[in-house]
Amino acid sequence: MAGAEEELAGRQAELEPVVSLVDVLEEDEELENEACAVLGGSDAEKCSYSQGLVKRQALYACSTCTPEGEEPAGICLACSYECHGSHKLFELYTKRNFRCDCGNSKFKNLECKLFPEKAKTNSCNKYNDNFFGLYCICKRPYPDPEDEVPDEMIQCVVCEDWFHGRHLGDIPPENGDFQEMVCQACMKRCSFLWVYAAQLAVRKMSAEDDGQVLSVDGTGDQEVTKPDSGGDALREEAPEHRNDAVKDAKAEQNNEPCTSSSSESELQTVFTNQSIKTESQSSCRLQELKTKPFLKKDTATYWPLNWRSKLCTCQDCMKMYEELDVLFLTDECDTVLAYENKGKIDQATDRRDPLMDTLNSMNRVQQVELICEYNDLKTELKDYLRRFADEGTVVKREDIQQFFEEFQSKKRRRVDGMQYYCS
Ligand SMILES: [Zn+2]
Ligand SMILES: [Zn+2]
Ligand SMILES: [Zn+2]
Ligand SMILES: [Zn+2]
Ligand SMILES: [Zn+2]
Ligand SMILES: [Zn+2]
Repeated sequence: MAGAEEELAGRQAELEPVVSLVDVLEEDEELENEACAVLGGSDAEKCSYSQGLVKRQALYACSTCTPEGEEPAGICLACSYECHGSHKLFELYTKRNFRCDCGNSKFKNLECKLFPEKAKTNSCNKYNDNFFGLYCICKRPYPDPEDEVPDEMIQCVVCEDWFHGRHLGDIPPENGDFQEMVCQACMKRCSFLWVYAAQLAVRKMSAEDDGQVLSVDGTGDQEVTKPDSGGDALREEAPEHRNDAVKDAKAEQNNEPCTSSSSESELQTVFTNQSIKTESQSSCRLQELKTKPFLKKDTATYWPLNWRSKLCTCQDCMKMYEELDVLFLTDECDTVLAYENKGKIDQATDRRDPLMDTLNSMNRVQQVELICEYNDLKTELKDYLRRFADEGTVVKREDIQQFFEEFQSKKRRRVDGMQYYCS
């Protein structure tokens, strides 16, 4: 017994690194799921152009065809394979409401192999620096060879740019604690979101934040003035200056149907809108929430699953969303999560079972034989693997090979002995 154990230990030590079969399978599945998620909802064979503006799709930019300095262009998944296979591509992950540009007037020397008869441009497409491989307010490539700080990139669900966690004004909560992020610039532009943020956002309650959320009357913090006292002067002040990086023409417009007020505080402001008694037509969730205290900060915000469904969809709010070009916020199907799930479901229904395919092409006798053999294999493999689990040893490639060799020879013996024995 001891001898066997020593031998096992010795064999294990020879083989590095030690990975269990379960690890391998799990990792494999994870990778597959991930690829499935990003690519799953997109067609790998047909150019998506004919679908018009695609609600959400995997997108690429080609720095061979449209390098920095030229006009930005985005291409669909199928075109990335078929028309730009050997080119240098930037992966843009997924973007909403985009129509494939491949081969249109932005491409000087390339004709799309999949859908050449495109219009010259797609006027509804939106572009940003991502199309030249630059991300975040710091406009850096990803991965960034000069960046030694390990930092995850998070995509803003409004502008769809990617941001370093450290460039969001507020360290992101633990991964998994939030589902979506709205970046600083977008929070400024869509300032109505602060009203919801007070109720819905996933917030790290750091010491710094403590005590900043005030009661309606604003007592207890000198930095905060009551809404009426600050007046309109501050409304102007709030959104300007703080963001040099993103210059959005629309950004400084007055975004809320009913403007809230302000304070002298440089970074943080408590807004309480008791001044606004909106004709008591409180069918508007936003107006209702505005009566409670909320905080405006110069940071990104983090949101939990299904937060979008809590946004008011009254007429006024829908009009505001439209003006701000964020109507998609009321659409749960717009989320990357919905897209990923769709991809997974599509692939699951698509994914043909090779066993079933083979079975369908066989006659009845062959079918029975194959099923028997398959069941044998399953049982024996399970037994075989259980031995490793019981012994607490790691299954190695050779072990699996050995298993199949043994299985084959056993099968041969059985086949020789009595025709097609089925256990
Ligand atoms: Zn295409
Ligand atoms: Zn190209
Ligand atoms: Zn193409
Ligand atoms: Zn950055
Ligand atoms: Zn954004
Ligand atoms: Zn509303």
